[in-house]
Amino acid sequence: MRENISLEEAEQLLLDHCKVYNTKSVLLSDALGRVLAEDVVAGENIPPFDRTPLDGYAMAAKDTEGASVEHPISLRVIEEVPAGYTATQGITTGTTIKVMTGAPIPEGADAIIKFEAVERQGDKISLQRGMHSGENIIWGGEDVRIGQIVAQRGMIITPPIMGLCAALGINKLTVYEQPQIALVSTGDELVDVTEPLQPGQIRNSNSYSLQGYCKQEGAIPVVIGTVKDEVDAIVAMIERGLEQANMVITTGGASVGDYDVIADALQALGAEMIFRRINVKPGMPTMAAVKDGKVILGLSGNPAASLIVYQLLGIPFIRKLAGRKEYQLPKLEAIVRDQFRKASPQRRFLRGKLILEHGQIAVDLTGSQGNGILSSMVGCNVLVEVPAGSPALMGGERLVAYLVEQIG
Ligand code: AMP
Ligand code: MG
Repeated sequence: MRENISLEEAEQLLLDHCKVYNTKSVLLSDALGRVLAEDVVAGENIPPFDRTPLDGYAMAAKDTEGASVEHPISLRVIEEVPAGYTATQGITTGTTIKVMTGAPIPEGADAIIKFEAVERQGDKISLQRGMHSGENIIWGGEDVRIGQIVAQRGMIITPPIMGLCAALGINKLTVYEQPQIALVSTGDELVDVTEPLQPGQIRNSNSYSLQGYCKQEGAIPVVIGTVKDEVDAIVAMIERGLEQANMVITTGGASVGDYDVIADALQALGAEMIFRRINVKPGMPTMAAVKDGKVILGLSGNPAASLIVYQLLGIPFIRKLAGRKEYQLPKLEAIVRDQFRKASPQRRFLRGKLILEHGQIAVDLTGSQGNGILSSMVGCNVLVEVPAGSPALMGGERLVAYLVEQIG
């Protein structure tokens, strides 16, 4: 078991224990947000045939050679083809077919002129310039070619991927099962939102924040429940979590006080400890263990500490558990505009919000940064990394920010 390790080492140890995944087939209409468990390969061209991008006349370019204002060339219109239909005949010398946007290019035609650019009289059009071969033609396969991979295994299915699948006639996709995350809240003081508060009690907020965060990552939270700081009771809850889910997250009791019994519970459970304590603030009292091939992540009970460590360690792990290829938090550099008056002897993460203004990227802090402060998680979409040994921030420092929520 490793102790007092870096965030990166903790993340790697967790990822090393990440086991994916069952797959299932879903209908295209239900596929949004799911993770592809297969490459999507085009079995057809998009578009499936050569077609016109505008309303106009289809012709053989060679028939228009030498046309000019002084010597217009006349072609006879032999047919009209709307989108969704095909011409019943080909172009022969001196003829043209009127085609509407999206209609297939008739046999023998290799150029389209838009209808506003010709003079029409009766069944004749006259052109005042020569066309070149391929002018105004959308070629079959111009967008997607047969055999092309249009979306890769491990990608989240987005609206355009759904559209591409529909265009290709693919109505079923193989996706990874959504990981189930068991949530166990520990603490004698905790009551649920539905219960009245007795003196000394607080409401369990972590369970709800974490349910939401799990859903945001496409995982299914399984609320096992709230349990007192008693080893046996906690063991029983974690066991239920292991039965019902792919991973267990506990909150509370992860420190080293008299009532911090998660480590004891993990030992009693016979789980193998992976690490204990990470060198970050907030969230130092974090631990992880593995049992039956499933990871148990023990977070601090302090609302901000638990949520921040969930984001730093839990999100990459759950993304990988979900089958995603890109699971790491994106990082960027930004100027932190606010002051933070404390020195940081330890590596620290501050809650902030990205500000995109006048082509500049900046971060404003979202409020008080204490371990137990939940309100400043609201609006927080980046965690700003303050390296160990940093003095107080004066405002204007360029620091690395980890993107933890979607921007916008
Ligand atoms: P602990 O990690 O058990 O030492 O708890 C640290 C602080 O977080 C204490 O003030 C707890 O009351 C509080 N806390 C623990 N669990 C939760 C929870 N599920 N929701 C809100 N606060 C909690
Ligand atoms: Mg406690």
